[in-house]
Amino acid sequence: PQPSDTDPLATLNPAQREAVEYGIGAAREAETAPLLVIAGAGSGKTNTLAHRVAHLVAHGADPRRILMLTFSRRAAAEMTRRVSRLLSRRLGLRADAAESCLDWAGTFHAIGARLLREHAERIGLAPTFTIHDREDSADLLNLVRHELGLSAKAKRFPTKGTCLAIYSRAVNTTDDLDVVLKTAFPWCLEWEAELKQMFGAYVEAKQKQAILDYDDLLLWWAQMMEVPELAAEVAARFDHVLVDEYQDTNRLQAAILLALRPDGRGLTVVGDDAQSIYSFRAATVRNILDFPAQFAQAARVVTLDRNYRSTRPILDAANGVIGLAAERFTKNLWTERESTARPRLVTVYDEAEQARFVASAVLERREAGTPLKRQAVLFRSSSHSAALEVELTRRNIPFVKFGGLKFLEAAHVKDLLGVLRWADNPRNRLAGFRVMQLLAGIGPATAGKVLDAMEASATPWLAFDCYEPPAAAAGEWEALAALMRALRGARADAGGATTSQASASVGAGPAEQGVATPAVPAGWPAEVELIRRWYTPFLERRFDDALVREADLLQLESIAATYRSRERFLTELTLDPPEATSDESGVPLRDEDYLILSTIHSAKGQEWEAVSLLNAVDGCLPSDMATSSAAEIEEERRLLYVAMTRAKDALALVIPQRFHVTGQTPGGDRHVFAARTRFIPAALLPLFEQASWPPPSPLSHEAAAMAREAAKRPVIDLGAKLRGRWG
Ligand code: ATP
Ligand code: MG
Repeated sequence: PQPSDTDPLATLNPAQREAVEYGIGAAREAETAPLLVIAGAGSGKTNTLAHRVAHLVAHGADPRRILMLTFSRRAAAEMTRRVSRLLSRRLGLRADAAESCLDWAGTFHAIGARLLREHAERIGLAPTFTIHDREDSADLLNLVRHELGLSAKAKRFPTKGTCLAIYSRAVNTTDDLDVVLKTAFPWCLEWEAELKQMFGAYVEAKQKQAILDYDDLLLWWAQMMEVPELAAEVAARFDHVLVDEYQDTNRLQAAILLALRPDGRGLTVVGDDAQSIYSFRAATVRNILDFPAQFAQAARVVTLDRNYRSTRPILDAANGVIGLAAERFTKNLWTERESTARPRLVTVYDEAEQARFVASAVLERREAGTPLKRQAVLFRSSSHSAALEVELTRRNIPFVKFGGLKFLEAAHVKDLLGVLRWADNPRNRLAGFRVMQLLAGIGPATAGKVLDAMEASATPWLAFDCYEPPAAAAGEWEALAALMRALRGARADAGGATTSQASASVGAGPAEQGVATPAVPAGWPAEVELIRRWYTPFLERRFDDALVREADLLQLESIAATYRSRERFLTELTLDPPEATSDESGVPLRDEDYLILSTIHSAKGQEWEAVSLLNAVDGCLPSDMATSSAAEIEEERRLLYVAMTRAKDALALVIPQRFHVTGQTPGGDRHVFAARTRFIPAALLPLFEQASWPPPSPLSHEAAAMAREAAKRPVIDLGAKLRGRWG
């Protein structure tokens, strides 16, 4: 098909156009080397990628054979939406039709999970494998440690979180354990032997229970691509592979890409080395720097230097910050968006004042016509927004916090998902434990016995059905057994469409016919409703606020309906959960206007008209945790650069003069006096407008003085007095 009469690429600048058209069309077929777009923030990399996909399809590429690897599920959805819009404009396709063809857009992890399920049988993996999130992984690791008797050994043994971080790093860097310990966890070196033993047992436990953790999704995928015939099969499914945010990929991801496109043909990657912020997860900026020379044919490299996002003063300030980096980033971004408003450095008294300032500023902007959705508040770590969340709630300002997990962490939601996961994978012990122990009269010992029997059997569900429950639990046991049968029935019904053949094969056999089985639902997502109905009595028994929680579960049902299948739902929910919100129940808000709160990491690739950054002070940015090496400090600088370059029209960096430090440090909980982040030294100050809040006025001076006076009065610690009576 031909592009419509007006030039569909007319809005692009020459460099963007070059990247979009590279290798496409009869005249350019000789261009077969891979393509790298390396360019600064807001220069249109993601936009160019979307145009390129649309251009490919407009020139006859099959959208079902285009793989788009993005940084988050949100980014994947956004990419699909943009491409579909472009396509509907160019080809007159219906946008939803185009969207449903662009099925292969997602994160490396989500795409890996799909490919692994499809090829599971060939690689000795149960197709119904369960994916563990980090919390579940840490719990399993902990369990293994107890079973090995390592917990009794010493108090100073690394925590389960540290153990997981070490394991994860070893997997993602493909380095040996001793190298990982020496470079990143030197204080754990003395435990090398124990850790090795523990990781061995952990890997074994995962395989026995058909569990993959996040890292396994990449590891298994990469391993699969090392088998030549499988690699050829997987690679042959795609004609084009496009990757956004390439600077934040790790070695495994680079290896996967290389195996997908060994000669680089049909491969496009875009990224910005100045925005590399994931080295703590073993991402390596070497991937993007080494990309051009990785293939037999050197990659075509396109750089973009015009920024379309930010006004000149914001861009100047961001360029100033990154210009002081130890590394030389050779990008000179310019913009035509003139403005007289410099980014603001706003000094406030403390974090409470910071929260009040941000809330007021947000409301002022809304008054002036910028809806909440086009504003964002960013911070270095998730805990930094606590005071602000309280303030926003107090003022009735709705917000959504990216990367929050509240909703999925709730016990009732976990219960329901546990049933779904267990039905999928009967060897999943964490889920099995969770579900069986809901029943009155079933404790961990019984549940463990049943799970052992299931694990030992080739037909686990038959073993489950054969179990004679204690008399007290008989009624509820029967209801659970019937539910599990119905869920299996639903899977069996779906036939070839599901990958749950293993459980289906031991499913509704003739022996089970006589028992009252709930009507087999029509398929996804009706099974969620089935589980919810079964779960209702437990809800009432377990919680005082059963009604609120029931509403959550209804909401979960409607979220489930937005996923194409159970596999996709469970996979993507684990990998990329919906956002936590200001709503009490934690249920994602729809359609309403709300403010975005986000860590800088989760804000990657996005933009808002107005952005405020909390805690632009030393200790927060750079973080206290990062002051050990120069490389870490540099990564913190890039984080600030990423934060600043999210803003289109207005940017405020807030500097609370005092902030609260919790735990760990020798001083325990305390207030510390803070200084402006070292990444904005005096030399850069002219690029900013400095202000303090509340703005000084004679009256408020007086009020402030009074407040300071009041604050000086000695605190009478009644608590200590009362405790003293017993000490
Ligand atoms: P980041 O590094 O933050 O991921 P990016 O390089 O991916 O940024 P985009 O998000 O693609 O940049 O684009 C930034 C903004 O510039 C978007 O609002 C986009 O619509 C706009 N933009 C990009 N190219 C053009 C263009 N040629 N004309 C007008 N606007 C453009
Ligand atoms: Mg981008």
